[in-house]
This record gives sequence, C-alpha cells and structure tokens, in this order.
Amino acid sequence: MNKTIIVSNRLPLQIKIDNNQLQVKPSVGGLATGLKTIHQEGNSLWIGWSGLTEEELNSDLSKQVKALIKKEKCDTVSLTQNDLENFYYGFSNRTLWPLFHYFMEYTEFENTYWDSYKAVNQKFADAVLEHVEDGDTVWVHDYQLLLVPKLIKDKKPNTTVGFFLHIPYPSYEIFRTFPWREELLHGILGADLIGFHTYDYQRHFLSSVKRILRLDVNFNEITYDDRVVKVDSFPMGIDYNKFHQSALKQKKEEKSELQKRLDDHIQSSKDARMILSIDRMDYTKGIPNRIRAFEYFLNKYPEYKEKVRLIMLAVPSRSNVPQYQLLKRETDELVGRVNGQFSTVSWTPIWYFYRSMPFENLIDLYTSSHIAMITPVRDGMNLVAKEYVATRTEQDGVLILSEMAGASKEMNEAMLINPNNFEQIADTLKQALEMPLKEQRSRMEILQKRLKRYTVEKWAEEFMKSLFATKNLGAVII
Ligand code: UDP
Repeated sequence: MNKTIIVSNRLPLQIKIDNNQLQVKPSVGGLATGLKTIHQEGNSLWIGWSGLTEEELNSDLSKQVKALIKKEKCDTVSLTQNDLENFYYGFSNRTLWPLFHYFMEYTEFENTYWDSYKAVNQKFADAVLEHVEDGDTVWVHDYQLLLVPKLIKDKKPNTTVGFFLHIPYPSYEIFRTFPWREELLHGILGADLIGFHTYDYQRHFLSSVKRILRLDVNFNEITYDDRVVKVDSFPMGIDYNKFHQSALKQKKEEKSELQKRLDDHIQSSKDARMILSIDRMDYTKGIPNRIRAFEYFLNKYPEYKEKVRLIMLAVPSRSNVPQYQLLKRETDELVGRVNGQFSTVSWTPIWYFYRSMPFENLIDLYTSSHIAMITPVRDGMNLVAKEYVATRTEQDGVLILSEMAGASKEMNEAMLINPNNFEQIADTLKQALEMPLKEQRSRMEILQKRLKRYTVEKWAEEFMKSLFATKNLGAVII
C-alpha cells in the first residue's frame, strides 16, 4: 500500500525532557489540525525535527525519542546546535523570512547560513529517502525546506511530491536580489504541485520562474524537463467549529479571571469598547504602526478617550534575533509613551501583554472585543483574523484588516486598510465603532459562511486532491 509522507521543520508534537524523562504531547497548531485526518488515517508518516538538539539528547534519550514518536507515526531528523544557529535562526529567519516579507534591509546573505541550509535540507531529504518507495506521495512544508522537493525527486522520480509555502512569495523584483535564486527555484520545482495561500503569491512565483529560469509557463503549468509542474493557490483556513463551539461553551461556564477583568471594562460605561490585536512579536505584524495609528486616532477623535481600550497581546518570538529585540524595545517604549500621555486615574488606553495565553483566554479576548484590529505590514495569511470571526457567535463585531495580509483576499467584508495610512486607520476605527449592528451582522454572516466552508481540513483535502491529480498529468506528457 502506498504511503503519504508529510515533511515539516517541526513535528506536530511537543517533546520535553523532565528529570531525564521524556514527555510527548501532540501539538494543537493549525497545520497539525489540518493534516490530522491525512496523518492519522491510512498509511502515513510525519518527518520533522523533534525540537531537541543532538547536544540535548544523549544516545539513550535519542533512542527513546525515536521509539516514542514512532508510536505517533512520526520520525525525527537529528539537528545539532550549529544547524539550529545557521539553518534555522540564520538562513530561515534572517534571510528567507525578511526577504519574502519585503524587509530587504533586514535580509542577511551569508554563505555560512546558505551552506548550513543546504546541508540541513539534505538531512531532511535523507530522512524521507529512508522511508519513501515508488508510488508514495510526499508533502513538504514551508520556507525552511525549499530544497527538499528536488532532493527527493532526483533520487526517487516515481514519487509524487507536493510543496506548500506558508509565507508570502515576493515579487520578482525582490526575489531577483537573492544570490542563490536559481538553485532555490530548482529546489522547489522538484515538486509536482506547488501551493500558495493566494493567487498573487502564485503569480509572483510564476514570474520568477519565467524570468530567472526562462522556462515555459502555460497558465499555471510549468514545463520542466520531462515533467509538468502545477502551481495553484489554496488559502489555509481554521478549525472553524473548534473556535465557534468554544466561544458558545465558555459563555455558559464560570468566568475566568481574565474574563471578569474584561467585563469590568465593558461594564464601566455604556459606550466602553474594546479593540483587540493578537500577534507574534514580529516586525512583519505592524505592531508599532498600530500603536501610532491608535495614538493618531485618540488625538483626532478625543471624544473616544476613556471609552476605547486597545488590548494588545504580543507573543514572544525568535527573541535571539537582533531585529526582534529592537522591535520589543520599540513596542515597550511606544506603549509607555501612549499610556503616559493619555492615561487617566480610571483609564489606560493600551493593555499590553507580552506573553502567550492559553486557548481559553484567547477565546475570552476574541469574544469580548468589539473590534479586532489586525494590521500586518506583510503576512502570508493571518489566522487570527479568521479566528476572531469564528468566535463571534452573535454575529456582531468588526474586523479591521490590513490589505497586506493574505487573509484579506478572502475577507472582503472586513474593513480593509493600508497599515501605513494612519489617517485611514483612524477614520476606519471610528467607522467601526459607530457601525450599526445590522451592518456588522451582514458582514459577519458572509465572512462566517465562507470560513465555515473552507476549513483547514478542507484546505488539506483540496491540496491532496490536486496533488493526486498531477499523477495523471505526468502520465500524459510521457
Ligand atoms: N496563538 C497562540 N497563543 C497565543 C496567541 C496566539 O497559540 O498566545 C495562535 C493563534 O490562535 C493563531 C496563531 O497563534 O492560530 C497565529 O497564527 P497567524 O497565522 O495569525 O500568525 P503566525 O504567527 O503564523 O505568523
């Protein structure tokens, strides 16, 4: 029976060493949820890094990890501390991440990082090649593993390889600056199907392929050696029911401490309003812009002072990369400045949390906020925007969303803004605060209907369906 092998940088498991004892827990991220059916049912295997380096694992622990995760239908790729520094924090997060998000000034082109990236991609491919057989299907994920499709295809041409990029694909003018551009494109083209979140990313990729490799592109198909490579967009969804049902359930249960504090603010006056933002502390998320725009709003519309509050949850991320440390400092200072300038004895304009929160608290935040203000300067998709919509069980609330987020392409009924235009953000915020309930509901209803239909499971299913269809494409051309 043929297998399906999923490959991603991290396994869908949380593995910890506690007192020389290993603990393994399934993780609850979007990708893990979407691929659950494919992974749990039938003959399948998930290959990725365990989250523990070789230095952290002695040979005994390493064997235990292998055995434990085998039960979860997984296998590990072993990475050293040095791999982590150069492949992950280096090439993935200091080269590809900023470049693909249009932050050219943050992009570091380092040969050492590139060498490590190639070597680690080879490690992942080797782990796949240990298991893969003719007729099997392999689905490779994301920007850490762009070279893996070719490394598999070259050795095992009779397998079907899919690749999905979870971040934006930049325009040709950005991508052309990349020193190893040909090699990277050839790496991705090892796949039979290449998926992106949006049609724009797909278009940018095809344009790079045409102009850099001078290959024939016919609509969304690339003729590559004796193969046809298909390129398509598959916008990733969320587990809609999980968010919707949790919101319904928590309304009936005893309130959390956080919920009680949120209620205190909401009940402080009849026109008290809460504006929510949730993101990883990442320079792509437009956090400083959002604070400045909120400051601009309070100055332009002072009647909202003491009434609206911005609740900003920023989740620590990649804090050993210098740009992230700078961003943290800038955010701390801006929040301090705005709060210092506007606070009164009974009101602080920004509630700022720099931490992650348990799922139940996220639901409390989503369900208590009249507005979600999501303003990335560049974002592959943005699931937070979708999660907010899914939790609005009364169909009230307004989503203000940056047009630079992939999610904006499917969420036209949100209020779309340019995150650099403070005037527009301030006016939109006012409009959102004054929006009649009827209009809130009519927008929410359409958004919810779409999200309910195109869930993360559906996303995975559609991708796999297209991937299987490429098997026939290959046969036609031979
Ligand atoms: N999230 C979380 N814990 C938190 C805050 C957020 O698990 O304390 C989740 C959130 O529910 C969402 C994800 O983190 O599913 C963020 O995904 P998104 O696509 O918005 O951004 P990314 O971090 O992938 O760039």
